[in-house]
This record gives sequence, structure tokens and C-alpha cells, in this order.
Amino acid sequence: MKVTNAEFVISAVGPSGYPQDALPEIALAGRSNVGKSSLINKMINRKNLARTSSTPGKTQHLNYYRINNELYFVDLPGYGYAKVSKTQRQVWGAMIEKYLLERETLRLIILVIDLRHPPSKDDEMMYDWLKHYDSPVCIVATKADKIPRSRWQKHIKIIKEALVMRGGDKLIMFSSETGIGKDELWAHIAGFTHP
Ligand code: GDP
Repeated sequence: MKVTNAEFVISAVGPSGYPQDALPEIALAGRSNVGKSSLINKMINRKNLARTSSTPGKTQHLNYYRINNELYFVDLPGYGYAKVSKTQRQVWGAMIEKYLLERETLRLIILVIDLRHPPSKDDEMMYDWLKHYDSPVCIVATKADKIPRSRWQKHIKIIKEALVMRGGDKLIMFSSETGIGKDELWAHIAGFTHP
């Protein structure tokens, strides 16, 4: 997709803050610092629309980005940040859960993981939870530029096995540095926004 317009719309903490125009939504989940903001910026050709390298866990809201007046990226709060209190984590959990279970315009969840490392326990839990509810998920393994191509298959295998990937979910290699995977991810998203 050629992105001609991308804008930050709103930070929402619950349904009253969600946009009302019924455009399809693509949610992005992943642990703090995995590279989610960089991925969003790369996808929409912007250096800094989504905040990068902010204090991990600081982004506590659902951040809506409208793209070409066609769809939203919804950046979910990063998980797995140790310094956040248990109560705070429960508040986020409830907010994210409510969004993922009840948002009718949600089409696809992109789970961003780091190609360099095996999925974390939080990544595994997130994927299991989504699959329990039969949500369509796409795994995006980012920071692919940090691993030589000759070793990609080894890392892909570890990820697929650890997550027990199922239901025909796709895994896409990505790099916010080089743009690897960008076209493939847009093509995949289009299958959910223009079915
Ligand atoms: P977020 O907390 O998930 O939004 O993560 P950020 O997008 O802020 O990225 C965290 C750090 O990883 C930053 O220092 C980024 O520059 C770096 N980073 C993110 N994506 C990539 C990538 O694809 N390749 C490389 N080499 N570094 C990346």
C-alpha cells in the first residue's frame, strides 16, 4: 500500500475514546522495547510519528493512527516491563483484553517479536490467549537486520516451535532499519482490511 496520509488520532483508555468511524483496525502487540514504534514508523514512512525509545512501559494507552483514511493502526501498551506495579499491569491487562475481545472493527493482531531471541513467556502467553479466542494473528519478527540471512531459518524454527504457531498464522521477517518485510506486511494487512 502507498501511504499518502498518516496521522496520530487519539490515545484511548477505553471504549469511550475509540474512534467512531468504523474503519478497520490492525492492532500491534509486543513486549516493551521490541521495536513496535519503529515498525509503525517504517510502515507509514515517518521518522517519528509513533514514539520510539520512550521509557519502556510509559505508553499506557491504546494509540490510534489513521492511515490514508482507510484503516487504523492501534498500538497497544507494551507488556513485560518489570518496573511497572502489579496493579498497573492488571489495569492494562483488563483494558487490552476488553479491546481485543469486544472491538468489532478489529481485523488482525500483529504480534511483534524480536527475531534474535526465543519468544518470551509473555509472548507465548499473549499468543496462546489470542488463539484461545480464535483471533487472527500475524507474527512479525523484527530486527531481522541483526541476524545474517543464513541464520534466519534457524531462528524462525525456534520461534514457530516455542509459540506452537497454528491456524495458518503467518510469520513475516521485518526490519525497521532496512525495510525488509514492509511490502509483505502491507500485502498481508490488505487481505484483512479489503477481504
Ligand atoms: P518499542 O518500545 O517496542 O516501541 O520499541 P522502539 O521502536 O522504541 O525500539 C526499541 C529500540 O530498538 C530502539 O533503539 C530502536 O532503534 C531499535 N530497533 C527497533 N527496530 C529495529 C530494527 O528493525 N533493527 C534494528 N537494528 N534496531 C531496531
